Amino acid sequence: MKTEKGAAAEGMEAKPTNFIREIIDADVASGKHKEIVTRFPPEPNGYLHIGHAKSICINFGIARDYGGRCHLRMDDTNPTKEEREYIESIQTDVRWLGFDWGPHEYYASDYYQQIYEHAVGLVREGKAFVCHLNADQMREYRGTLTEPGKQSPYRERSVEENLDLFARMKNGEFSDGHCVLRAKIDMTSPNMNMRDPVIFRILRASHPRTGDAWCVYPMYDFAHPLSDAFEGVTHSICTLEFEDHRPLYDWVVRECRPVGGTPRQIEFARLNLSYTVMSKRKLLRLVKDGLVSGWDDPRMPTIQGMRRRGYPPTALRAFADRVGVAKRESTVDLALLEYCVREDLNKTAPRVMAVLNPLKVVITNYPAGETEQLEAVNNPEDPAAGKRQVPFSREIFIEREDFMENPPPKFFRLAPGREVRLRYAYFIKCAEAIKNAAGEVTELRCTYDPATRGGDAPDGRKVKATLHWVDAGCSLAAEVRLYDKLFTRENPEAGPEGTDFSANLNPDSLKVLSDCRVEPHLAAAQPESRWQFERLGYFCVDNDSAPGKLVFNRTVTLKDEWAKIQKRGA
Ligand code: ATP
Ligand code: MG
Repeated sequence: MKTEKGAAAEGMEAKPTNFIREIIDADVASGKHKEIVTRFPPEPNGYLHIGHAKSICINFGIARDYGGRCHLRMDDTNPTKEEREYIESIQTDVRWLGFDWGPHEYYASDYYQQIYEHAVGLVREGKAFVCHLNADQMREYRGTLTEPGKQSPYRERSVEENLDLFARMKNGEFSDGHCVLRAKIDMTSPNMNMRDPVIFRILRASHPRTGDAWCVYPMYDFAHPLSDAFEGVTHSICTLEFEDHRPLYDWVVRECRPVGGTPRQIEFARLNLSYTVMSKRKLLRLVKDGLVSGWDDPRMPTIQGMRRRGYPPTALRAFADRVGVAKRESTVDLALLEYCVREDLNKTAPRVMAVLNPLKVVITNYPAGETEQLEAVNNPEDPAAGKRQVPFSREIFIEREDFMENPPPKFFRLAPGREVRLRYAYFIKCAEAIKNAAGEVTELRCTYDPATRGGDAPDGRKVKATLHWVDAGCSLAAEVRLYDKLFTRENPEAGPEGTDFSANLNPDSLKVLSDCRVEPHLAAAQPESRWQFERLGYFCVDNDSAPGKLVFNRTVTLKDEWAKIQKRGA
C-alpha cells in the first residue's frame, strides 16, 4: 500500500478513478460517445475560489485524459450581478491553473435567441404557459414537500394566447415581474422543481454582453441544459445541490430536442474547506465591507488570493486530485491544502536566508571593512538548482529570538558564552550582550573561529544549533506579511447565537513586519516568485514590491499540521 506521503508526492500523475470517470469509461466502451466534452460554467458574479478550482480540475482533467475538450462557458443569465471584471478574472484564473479551453469560449448569453425559440416551441406544443400569479401566490400554489401544489388558474390558457403574451413579454409590453413563462409539468410531483417551474422572467437590466437587447431572461434550469446540448457537452458535471434539478434538466432536453446532443448531468459533492467561507456572496461581503484588502487578499480562498499568497498552481491541482470526487458532502481540513503547498514548494522553492526580527551581531575578531563570499546550496532537494554566494562581514543580523540572555534548559541557540553555527559560515561565540537604557538587548558582541569556515570544526567539536543570518551591510530591507487563518473557527458559520461568519474573523490574521532583512540574492526576485526562508517557512514576492522596496507574503510555515492531524487520527 502507498503511504499518504507517497501518494501525495506523485500528485497529478496518480490518476485514481472515481465514479464520474467510471461512467465516462462505460460510455466510451459502449460507443455512446466518441469524444468526451465537458464544460466549466461559472456565473461571472465574483472571483473563483478553491471550490471552483476543484471543478476546473475535474472538468479540464477529464477532457485532457480522455482526449476530449472542455468548454469555458460563462453562465451569464443573471445580468444584475454580472460584470466584465469577473469574466476577465475567471479567464486569468483558469489559465493560471494550467488549463486551456482553446477556441471553446462560450457565453450562455450568446444563446438567448435559441433559448427563446425553444421556449416558444414549448408554448406551441402546449408545454409552457404565461402565468400572472405574483410571487406570494406562486409560493402558496406551489405546495410543500408533504403537500402537492395547486394548478395555476392561468395554466389552461390557449396556445394562441400564450404565444401572444410571451411575445409581448419579450417585446417589453409588461413591467418587470408582471408575469412569467412557466413549464407545464406536474404540480403534484414529489420533486418541487417539477411543479411548473418558471423558465423565463421579465427583467430590465443592462447585460454586460447583450446590453438592452433583451428584457426577458431564461432561468438557470432552462438555460443550462440547452446550453450544454448546443455545445455537444456529453457530461455535465455539477455539484450536489443540482441533484434534485436533474429531472428538470432531463425534461428540458427531452421536450426541447435541441440540436447538439443529449448531455448527461452528473453531480459530485462540493468542496468545503475548514476555517474559511466559500460562497461568492460571503466573499463579496468580505471585500465590500473592507474586511480584507480585496478579492486577491492572500487570506482569501479565492484563486487570486491563493496565487498572491504564493500557492503554486501545481499544488492546487495536486490538492484537487488528493481530495478526489465524492458523492457526500464533507469538509476538508485546511491543513491538507497547506500540506500540498509545502510538498510542492519543498521541491521547487530555492532556499535563501532572511531575518524577520533583526538583532545586530558584531564579530569583534573579524577584520573591519572586509567582506567575503560564502557558498550556499540553493535547494538540497534539487541538485540542479545549484549554488550561490552569500556575503559575510564583521556585522551581521540574526533573529532576535535566537538569542536569550538567560536561556532555559531546552534553549540551545545563542546565549552568553555559548557557541553556535551560522549556516554556511562559521561558528560564533557570544561574548557580550549590549543593552539600551530600557534593558533591551540591542547588539551582541561575538567572536568567530576562522577554522570553521563552511560550518564545520576541524577539531570535531559540536554545536547544538545552526542559525540563519544575513550580512548587515549587504542585506536588503524588506517588509514581510505574516498571514494566519482568516477565521478563528473551523466552521466560521457556527458562531455564537445571532451572529454570522463575520463575528468569527481572526483579528490576528495579518501581521506586518516592516524591518526585515533579506540576503542580496533576492534583489532581482520577481513578483510571485517563491522562496524558502531557511528555518522560517515559504514566502513569495508580493505585487506591492517595487525596486528598492521588497515585500514578501508568508505562504506557509514549515510546520506540518497535517502530519499531526494524521497521527491524532491513527
Ligand atoms: P458560490 O456558491 O460560491 O456562489 P456557485 O456554485 O454559485 O458558487 P458558479 O459560478 O455557478 O458558482 O460555479 C461554477 C461551477 O463551479 C459550477 O459547476 C459549480 O458547481 C462549481 N462549484 C462551485 N463551488 C464549488 C465547490 N465548493 N466545490 C466544487 N465545485 C464548485
Ligand atoms: Mg451556481
